[in-house]
Amino acid sequence: MATLMPALERRLRREISGDVLFDGFSRGRYATDASHYQMMPVGIVVPRTIEEAERAIAIADQEGASVLARGGGTSQCGQTVNESLVVDCSKHLHRILDLDVQGGRCVVEPGIVLDELNRQLRPHGLWFPVDVSTSSRATIGGMAGNNSCGGRSLRYGTMRDNVLSIDAVLADGTAAHFGRANADLSDIPDGSPLKPLARDLLALGAREAAEVEARFPKVQRRVGGYNLDALTPGRNDLNLAHILVGSEGTLAFTTKVELKLWPVLGRRAVGACHFGSFYEAMNAAQHLVKLAPIAVELVDRTMIGLAREIAMFRPTLEQFVRGEPDAILLVEFGENDQEENLRRLARLHELMGDLGFGWDKPGAKWGGVVDVIEPALQTAIAELRASGLNVMMSMKEQGKPVSFVEDCAVPLEHLADYTSRLTEVFERHGTRGTWYAHASVGCLHVRPVLNLRLEKDVKAMRAIAEEAFAMVREYKGSHSGEHGDGLLRSEFHEPMYGTRLVRAFEEVKDRFDPDGLFNPGRIVRAPKFDDRANFRYGPEYRVEDFTPALDWSEYTGAAGGFQGAVEMCNNNGACRKFVAGVMCPSWRVTLNERDVTRGRANTLRLAISGQLGPDAFASDAMLETLKLCVSCKGCRRECPTGVDMARMKIEVLAARAAKRGLSLRDRLIGWLPRYAPYAARVPWLFNLRDALPGAARLSEALAGFSARRKLPRWRRDIFRDSADSSWPGERREAPSSRLKSRPSTSLPHGMKGVDARHKAGHDAEVKEVVLFADTFNRYFERENLDAALAVLDAAGYRVHLATPADGAKRPLCCGRTFLAVGAVREAREEAERTIAALAPYTERGVPVVGLEPSCIFGFRDEIPALVKTEAAERLSGSVFLFEEFVAREAKAGRFRLPAKPGKDRVLLHGHCHQKSFGAMRAVEETLKLVPGLSVETVESSCCGMAGSFGYGADTMDASLAMGELSLLPAVRKAAPETIIVADGTSCREQIAFGAGREAVHVARVLAAHL
Ligand SMILES: Cc1cc2nc3c(=O)[nH]c(=O)nc-3n(C[C@H](O)[C@H](O)[C@H](O)COP(=O)(O)OP(=O)(O)OC[C@H]3O[C@@H](n4cnc5c(N)ncnc54)[C@H](O)[C@@H]3O)c2cc1C
Ligand code: SF4
Ligand code: SF4
Repeated sequence: MATLMPALERRLRREISGDVLFDGFSRGRYATDASHYQMMPVGIVVPRTIEEAERAIAIADQEGASVLARGGGTSQCGQTVNESLVVDCSKHLHRILDLDVQGGRCVVEPGIVLDELNRQLRPHGLWFPVDVSTSSRATIGGMAGNNSCGGRSLRYGTMRDNVLSIDAVLADGTAAHFGRANADLSDIPDGSPLKPLARDLLALGAREAAEVEARFPKVQRRVGGYNLDALTPGRNDLNLAHILVGSEGTLAFTTKVELKLWPVLGRRAVGACHFGSFYEAMNAAQHLVKLAPIAVELVDRTMIGLAREIAMFRPTLEQFVRGEPDAILLVEFGENDQEENLRRLARLHELMGDLGFGWDKPGAKWGGVVDVIEPALQTAIAELRASGLNVMMSMKEQGKPVSFVEDCAVPLEHLADYTSRLTEVFERHGTRGTWYAHASVGCLHVRPVLNLRLEKDVKAMRAIAEEAFAMVREYKGSHSGEHGDGLLRSEFHEPMYGTRLVRAFEEVKDRFDPDGLFNPGRIVRAPKFDDRANFRYGPEYRVEDFTPALDWSEYTGAAGGFQGAVEMCNNNGACRKFVAGVMCPSWRVTLNERDVTRGRANTLRLAISGQLGPDAFASDAMLETLKLCVSCKGCRRECPTGVDMARMKIEVLAARAAKRGLSLRDRLIGWLPRYAPYAARVPWLFNLRDALPGAARLSEALAGFSARRKLPRWRRDIFRDSADSSWPGERREAPSSRLKSRPSTSLPHGMKGVDARHKAGHDAEVKEVVLFADTFNRYFERENLDAALAVLDAAGYRVHLATPADGAKRPLCCGRTFLAVGAVREAREEAERTIAALAPYTERGVPVVGLEPSCIFGFRDEIPALVKTEAAERLSGSVFLFEEFVAREAKAGRFRLPAKPGKDRVLLHGHCHQKSFGAMRAVEETLKLVPGLSVETVESSCCGMAGSFGYGADTMDASLAMGELSLLPAVRKAAPETIIVADGTSCREQIAFGAGREAVHVARVLAAHL
């Protein structure tokens, strides 16, 4: 483990304005990348400017620390972990410095993320086409560092082919511009520090030219070692930047990258070539590439099988998979002229016939082409392919698919033999692998399943690696075809390139960086790749057992499986994306590694395994790590391995509550359902906080509620259940009378004066449903419950209102507020009460419907993990959000709503849990029951309110920043007559506060159109 360097820390703090992080928690968060390694850095600096980065490097040099540049930290080979000072470029260094649209080039800072760059280029008709799968978080600095390659490298090449120049800081602190140069270096000024360096490099290139010619594999996908081939004489394209590309931060620190840009891709044609045998598919690849496609991607039988298990992918498979293929090659044509693409697609059909494949042929020669022309289907297939891998990665056992021979590349003519021999190697070592990715360039991804906690599996890893790399050498391929060297491959350079070239690599390193300032021990002089001291799960790794608050038994390991759940994070960094979906709102506003799902999961892993000192799990630093997690559950759905941080946060809060008790704020939040009945009796008293001058400020000082935001307003006319009818808990009042009891003055146009007496559509059959009135709607927004009642009533349902089974007056509650503060015992009590009250209905199969997403999905998610009874399980299968129920019933033809047509425009914002549980389509379908409404859904992450989060004085700014990411600007832009629909109480509150608009629950839109 790296030793602490207090002098370095002191100087950085004094001289750098960006974050300087030297505490154990922060260092732990930067100790891993997407490989299986872990090394503690000495500290982290997050420079605000390139100049600050340069200064930090100089300070590190003077204080005797090495330097590790870092982008997204998504490398798979351990090149982004080291006992160094980490310089994180991703937070501040992400500007486009120059864009030359005519010339098709741009200059960027190293921390810009590829998707973000392409988003800014799109309006100019340009893109940067090295489309790595991690494009949502991979930075250009990291991509250049690794010589990354995209799925379309057949057309566009690798990073090396697309980097025009690099500005870098050298180990001696001088800056240099690496770019095109004359062979005699006459265009480099004499005083430039680059000139002597370049001269030496070219001399080395000339000296080793014959060896390079003999030993460098002739495949496009060779990213291992230093690019000595860029220095050999006789080439008319000398570009000195190419020695830095793929150097994994070991030679210099990149400050600017000049990129070659390409026109955006237009319409494409894809042929899904089916094969009866995997071997035949591999063998065919070499012939298919002759039609000059831009990509040939493989999907194998296992992946197809996995995708068939997932309901959302089944329709896509049905559209392009015919029969039971052993493998499919997706051949993509992307010329400017779609007619030409279609002509090539036709030739693909002929070629498959010429190769002997036919739909009518038996066995291995069975096959043919399915055309995929529709862009929507092409996109769906691309998503399916990516998600198929995710399903594979989400294995819950301790053995996981491990990336170490994952990107070997061999010449296409050997692909079939290579894959079948490697499969035999896996079998011999008692494991298996699933194949996918880039058949066009002979670089197929495969990860054998191994448990690297076991010595025997570590031995198997070495044996497989040695056998695989020997085979790759035999085929004159490259052992490092996409992901780089890092700790994984560097050891194998000697057998791959020979001793002489490895010495030449060392000379390059020493010429650039004689004292080992930059990322030492990578590419040259690396430790053994299976040195377990550098593993994330090394021989010392242990997790102490403890009793968790929730049930984690679907995972393995200590603490009832909590260990396994935490360890699901493999650092792939998908939670660092900026756009689309929900995950992870706190990251999107702070760009701090601490505030992203990955940072949190890593912190938890280190804490439970004792690597952050005693009691770390319930510590203040852990609370700080989770403070901005809004429990949106975005990660539960969008993390490829299903890391559910919202649930994990409950464990931490519960551990803290048990150890340290609860704060006043926690008590006021958690116990709200318990004191709400009293508050509703004297609302004026409880509302004084926002009426008396100074009271809000006092509440901020005493309980931490931000004085800037008003608290929800208490009222007397709350929603009340009654229990005096023929059915237990059946409602007493006619919904219409309640709807009239409090006419809304603020509803949007067309939503006043709801008349719910309309009973058309009722039929003789008894359709029953229970309406669960949650605490928030009951006490603060009863209009929503009234509207839901009116709608269900109008659609012919007999609606029951659940009342406590013990006859107590206090209404039911799901326990959400208690869970939010870690009061697990109270949450369980509340949940058990509600489960008991609803049991008579769920036993009869009567569905339970509610309005508040966070409450209703709690019954499906946390509560079954809290209350392990049959009744809880039954409830989890019978509980629906109002809109889920309506959409389901409408689809079954049972929900006949007598709705008047509307002309309004609706802007719909989804609550995070609606998105996480896939309920957004249900809201859209529910709104469609009103003919004529035009609905637009905001592409938003979390609104930022998240229950009590938005009320906290310490979280208010983050809350508003989350809202400002997309939701609030979209609401402000909406026309005044547009109806804003948001089904979450918190979302409506945030919209009202942040955009000054009233948002309504979908039930009210329906009720208004009855
Ligand atoms: C699920 C998954 C899929 C992947 N798919 C692909 C793929 O399709 N194609 C592919 O090529 N790779 C792929 N990768 C690997 C990885 O995502 C890419 O290599 C990516 O380009 C790395 O970018 P990053 O910003 O995360 O770099 P990092 O990991 O942060 O850094 C990579 C290297 O660059 C160096 N570096 C970073 N910034 C600088 C700087 N300013 N100056 C000098 N050196 C610097 C680092 O020190 C490090 O050695 C995948 C990884 C995962 C986990
Ligand atoms: S939390 Fe999920 S998405 Fe984020 S790095 Fe870990 S596995 Fe990837
Ligand atoms: S629950 Fe939401 S805020 Fe918390 S880590 Fe997951 S995505 Fe991020």
